[in-house]
Amino acid sequence: MFSLVAIHKSYGPVRAVGPVDLEIAKARTTVLLGPSGCGKSTLLRLMTGLTSPDSGEVRFEGVRVQPDRWPSLRRHLGYVIQEGGLFPHLTAWSNVTLMARHLGWSGPDVDRRVEELGQLTRLDRPTLLRYPAELSGGQRQRVSLMRALMLDPAVLLLDEPLGALDPMTRFDLQTDLAQIFRSLGKTVVLVTHDLSEAGFLGDLIVLMKEGRVVQTGTLEQFVHHPAEPFVRKFINAQRSPLEAVAPVA
Ligand code: ADP
Ligand code: MG
Repeated sequence: MFSLVAIHKSYGPVRAVGPVDLEIAKARTTVLLGPSGCGKSTLLRLMTGLTSPDSGEVRFEGVRVQPDRWPSLRRHLGYVIQEGGLFPHLTAWSNVTLMARHLGWSGPDVDRRVEELGQLTRLDRPTLLRYPAELSGGQRQRVSLMRALMLDPAVLLLDEPLGALDPMTRFDLQTDLAQIFRSLGKTVVLVTHDLSEAGFLGDLIVLMKEGRVVQTGTLEQFVHHPAEPFVRKFINAQRSPLEAVAPVA
């Protein structure tokens, strides 16, 4: 779906990404995983055209995306930014339907789509009439997801969509997201720094370090065939809660 070819991106003296070559498979969930600052968000933004590479190419369905093509291509991308990015002065419903109304959708078409997505994300109508500040963190992320799906995009790009949630809310949303991804069969690229989330949601995991891809594969491959010592170190850094419990004598 997307190919990143020999991509470099620096901010002044800081190399955010590069060199990176990466294929994003159609109808699969690819997870970009790695510690904070390793370039995950930059890589995702390169796939939205909101950031342009210093060198290298972004290809969509095999064709290099020229700068003037991004605005029309972006209609086919659903993007959830790291903080959700809902407009605080608009209700959830207005946030979700903003683009569709701008594009001239009819009232019944808008209502039908909201109804469909409300069922998918488990948000009812009264909840959608609230403002973002009146919603829980989990509800806000469900609204962000609805907004990203409203125009039925070909690709869904999610930047740490569950990053700010408490563990139980996060667990519930992970379960729902897995179900949603399965039922929609869309191309999904999801950013996280959480190993178990990556393993749970990803068909393919791309582990990054300092702007580069260290290993691409499944959690199992990372555990049994780590490409370099960093992979093992990253896995071992995720502490199991059971470690804190004294073993039974
Ligand atoms: P991640 O999402 O993995 O935490 P980012 O892609 O946000 O990492 O950032 C990668 C590196 O690029 C970091 O060192 C970050 O400080 C830097 N960076 C990202 N965006 C900018 C920017 N707009 N201006 C300057 N530096 C940036
Ligand atoms: Mg980030």
